[in-house]
Amino acid sequence: MSLPKAELHLHIEGTLEPELAFELAARNGVTLPYADTEALREAYAFKDLQSFLNLYYELMAVLRTEQDFADLANAYLARAAAQGVRHAEIFFDPQAHIARGLSLGTVVEGLWQALGDSERDHGISTKLIMCFLRDESADSALETLQAATPYLDRITGVGLDSAEVGHPPLKFREVYEAAARLGLRRVAHAGEEGPPEYITEALDVLGVERVDHGLRCMEDPALVERLVRERIPLTLCPLSNVRLRTVDTLADHPLPAMLDAGLMCTVNSDDPAYFGGYAGDNFAAVHRTLGLTEDRLRELARNSFLASFLQDDEERRARYLAEVDAYEFGDAVS
Ligand SMILES: [Zn+2]
Repeated sequence: MSLPKAELHLHIEGTLEPELAFELAARNGVTLPYADTEALREAYAFKDLQSFLNLYYELMAVLRTEQDFADLANAYLARAAAQGVRHAEIFFDPQAHIARGLSLGTVVEGLWQALGDSERDHGISTKLIMCFLRDESADSALETLQAATPYLDRITGVGLDSAEVGHPPLKFREVYEAAARLGLRRVAHAGEEGPPEYITEALDVLGVERVDHGLRCMEDPALVERLVRERIPLTLCPLSNVRLRTVDTLADHPLPAMLDAGLMCTVNSDDPAYFGGYAGDNFAAVHRTLGLTEDRLRELARNSFLASFLQDDEERRARYLAEVDAYEFGDAVS
């Protein structure tokens, strides 16, 4: 679906398609424990968040050089552009790479090779958001922020991802306070597998401006009311929720109810190589399965630009919003 949109919840490591994984493995002399791309694609049929994360970290071994990260980002941007993405705020997981012996510079400079030329090459403006792994220690997060000091001109904000349950936002208060002092924007995954209380804590303790997922807010009417009142954007990832069994089927997804409640929802792809689709695929799926009208789809697209960190370029945001308003659906959505 080519409806113009911003993607606000996208892990660049989660865009590694089997074909590129094998190409990078060959280039770097890494042996993958899969016979071919088909066997690897079959391994993408994981059961839950933890089994997905195990595969996700295993495959990162093929990413070694700046060129690898540039190739990864360019492959994502090309696919995203084909699905109407005009602006992308991209997550990356530095600790997962530093733990493998890479320097933060290799990761950031490599990604920047692609992001810096993305407007020219793909027609997509970009921002970079550095995520902390919440199953690592708070000290490790602080060290990562410290290591990022030379690259802060390229990093717009910080996020919090990986296994949620048992790792409440409170654990990361100190690093989020330090990030705020550095002028970094703040987001965090909350309320995906974790309880609604994690969403409240992310807002009150970490000072996040957007909640990634936030699905489980629907269990707490007072929290929904607050999110509506404060216009807190939620970056939902419908196909991801199905693959990780956060919802039983896409037909059970609460997105229509969330929109009806007045929540500021956006639709994103999370880890598209693993979850069966990029941003446009997610839009098409919620249109088809949840029966969202064209007005609702346009609202989701408008929300994505309104929720994006384009405060330094309001003229650009206005231009993107005008593109959404002018978009004609035609037969593409049927
Ligand atoms: Zn995510």
